[in-house]
Amino acid sequence: MSTPALEIQGLVAGYGDVSVLRGLDLSIAPGQLVALIGANGAGKTTLLRTISGLIKPQAGEIRLEGTPLHGLAPYEVVRQGFVQSPEGKQLFGGMSIRENLLIGAHNARAREVRDQTLKEVFALFPILEERQKLAANTLSGGQQQMVAVGRALMAKPRLLALDEPSLGLAPIMVDRLFESIRRIRDLGVTVLVIEQNVFKVLQMADHGHVLENGRIALSGSGRELLADGHLRATYLGI
Ligand code: ATP
Repeated sequence: MSTPALEIQGLVAGYGDVSVLRGLDLSIAPGQLVALIGANGAGKTTLLRTISGLIKPQAGEIRLEGTPLHGLAPYEVVRQGFVQSPEGKQLFGGMSIRENLLIGAHNARAREVRDQTLKEVFALFPILEERQKLAANTLSGGQQQMVAVGRALMAKPRLLALDEPSLGLAPIMVDRLFESIRRIRDLGVTVLVIEQNVFKVLQMADHGHVLENGRIALSGSGRELLADGHLRATYLGI
């Protein structure tokens, strides 16, 4: 069996004395598009923040393609190839689209291939090339989300994590964005998506995991999860 893109074992993490993640195990195969689902406050963002090195785990191991990430500083985690696009985009609104994208290529590995990666991002999101000189805050919400995803791609991720990319977007923009996420997977990048849009994300994902009570409670292919009675009742209201 090939080395997992991401492997997490026994992860315990949270805030102060409160453990949000309580012995979480998760394995993601290389090249897959994987959805992480869970109720509000289940700990999805906490998981991304812990993998990113922003929260220090109380216990457990995190490996990216076999290399330990636990204990690394956030910039080292990015250098290893785990890059996340945070919830709420967090762009520099007054700076140009191009500048926002180039900020993503901050690490040395990405900087070397920056011009080529920028071409790839523009191929994925042609509207960003057309508007590259405009300030980011002149864009629609959907286009700003493209900048946020593009900026993460500029860091040359091996694993790209997206936190609620569809939040606040019109349905047509969600469809376009999800199509782009699929194309990113097809380029060979492993993708982990956190989504409230459970139905759509499971239709798109190769695999999904459900976070409940600090652990992965349910895993399966997108199709299997969509057919699961518990998932349908809890997250789709069916
Ligand atoms: P959402 O979908 O609402 O973003 P989530 O699954 O991403 O939810 P988290 O944001 O990871 O959930 O939050 C998990 C728990 O940790 C929640 O109970 C939340 O109140 C708590 N929490 C989040 N951030 C902090 C913080 N900075 N300090 C203390 N507790 C926090």
